[in-house]
Amino acid sequence: MNKTRISSSSGIQYKRTLHQNDIVDLCNECNRNNIVECCDKCGNGVCNNEKCAWLFPSHNNTDFIICNHCFEVIDKKLTPLVDYTKLQLLKKKINEKIEKQITMLPQV
Ligand SMILES: [Zn+2]
Ligand SMILES: [Zn+2]
Repeated sequence: MNKTRISSSSGIQYKRTLHQNDIVDLCNECNRNNIVECCDKCGNGVCNNEKCAWLFPSHNNTDFIICNHCFEVIDKKLTPLVDYTKLQLLKKKINEKIEKQITMLPQV
């Protein structure tokens, strides 16, 4: 079950799946280290292990934290965003331009 809890040590509000008899605030990713930060996307508590959370610098000097789970979801969504059809269109346009330039060359 998911419960919103407030960390007693840092005052960070986070959600995590609680296991039975789970009293200690442990990282939602590795379940081993104490929670240091919480994911800015899902709110899960994460430790400062680089394998558990990803830090992104943000405008107002505060770091944007994404847990590993959310990062994987975002990463999968980002990959198809590279539009290969547009890339090919661009290549086609460049080729057409070159061809035009060639035909425009004065014939000797
Ligand atoms: Zn962790
Ligand atoms: Zn997350």
